Amino acid sequence: MSSTTYLIKGVSVLGAEPTDLLVRDGLIAPESEARGAQVIDADGLVALPGLVDLHTHLREPGREDAETVESGSRAAALGGYTAVCAMANTSPVADTAGVVEQVWRLGREAGLVDVQPIGAVTVGLAGQHLAELGAMATSAAKVRIFSDDGHCVSDPRLMRRALEYVKAFDGVIAQHAEEPRLTEGAQMHEGEVSARLGLTGWPAVAEEAIIARDALLAEHVGARLHVCHVSTAGSVDVLRQAKAAGVRVTAEVTPHHLLLTDERATSYDPVFKVNPPLRTQNDVAALRQALAEGLIDIVATDHAPHAVEDKECEWGYARPGMLGLETALSIVLDVLGPDWPLIAERMSRTPARIAGLTDHGHLPAAGAPATFTLVDPAARWQVDPTASASRSRNTPYAGMTLPGRVVATFLRGEPTVLDGKATK
Ligand SMILES: [Zn+2]
Repeated sequence: MSSTTYLIKGVSVLGAEPTDLLVRDGLIAPESEARGAQVIDADGLVALPGLVDLHTHLREPGREDAETVESGSRAAALGGYTAVCAMANTSPVADTAGVVEQVWRLGREAGLVDVQPIGAVTVGLAGQHLAELGAMATSAAKVRIFSDDGHCVSDPRLMRRALEYVKAFDGVIAQHAEEPRLTEGAQMHEGEVSARLGLTGWPAVAEEAIIARDALLAEHVGARLHVCHVSTAGSVDVLRQAKAAGVRVTAEVTPHHLLLTDERATSYDPVFKVNPPLRTQNDVAALRQALAEGLIDIVATDHAPHAVEDKECEWGYARPGMLGLETALSIVLDVLGPDWPLIAERMSRTPARIAGLTDHGHLPAAGAPATFTLVDPAARWQVDPTASASRSRNTPYAGMTLPGRVVATFLRGEPTVLDGKATK
């Protein structure tokens, strides 16, 4: 519980008329005045429920040179996040109760965002044997989302068994949809640009075929499926069909797939190498439309920090992935415009619901947890990779001027960011 009481003066909740919010004992208090409260002038600022990222790579344990739970948590808080789901492809892999509890504990120690570990579906992400899903679910980390992200659970029998297993505790399988036989040696999106550059392509159908298969499996089993980083127009069509048929499927899109195209590969700058790859303008348009309509439920960052030696090398050798936590809200603002209720839905309420994070996704209103972020919609800022709180520098937006800046973030009444700076 916070010892300090804060009075947020003149803030616009989701773009509504300015009001005052009193933050006391971890909650938004019903009254709007309190003696001795620390006043935060929020004139012109917009309050959003704290953002929730369903897809973050924190790299700890194993690659603390690229990111730690603490550095990634700080980047998240600065980006307006109050909760992140940490992917399982660490070293060792988060495929046991021990590792997920370690990540969960590190998150609590950092105290900047709630770090909710995701468990691996298969042992060592090897796609051979189911991991100890039940032990991870009953651990202190209470894992509800399982994913082999980075790899696809391509064996249909294993995928079916995983869906059956997690159904018992309303868990969800988050699939990295990539048929591996169709993407062997792939370097970028398969299309005109890859043909021109002579690089091996990653065809859209490798994603769409797995989403279609998994939607049918999820329907057959009656379990919940979540599709990671949807990147093609065809995948949107598959999702439309699955949702119309009542399949329990949700889907995410990344900020970079909403903004950038495969033309970036012509620079051969590995900062633009990512998996799934950047697609075409037609795909970008379809993804934006699907996000606005709700066929794609949420924005997730796929924040993927990489050490310099893994990224500043030849395209063919570079690891795929981009930073995302500190820039996601600005990119979404740029793409969707200042539709604050929609942004709150896609970046906080729905991801919190999918992950079962009941402390998150609440409008900052009387009685709710004081877990929110304050954004200056009029601010514009230039992305400087060296200024990032992440240990890595692989942002594809270096030098770009973006709209909207996070001024403050609160987690259960405690500020994690004030005046645009992390409090710890
Ligand atoms: Zn992935």
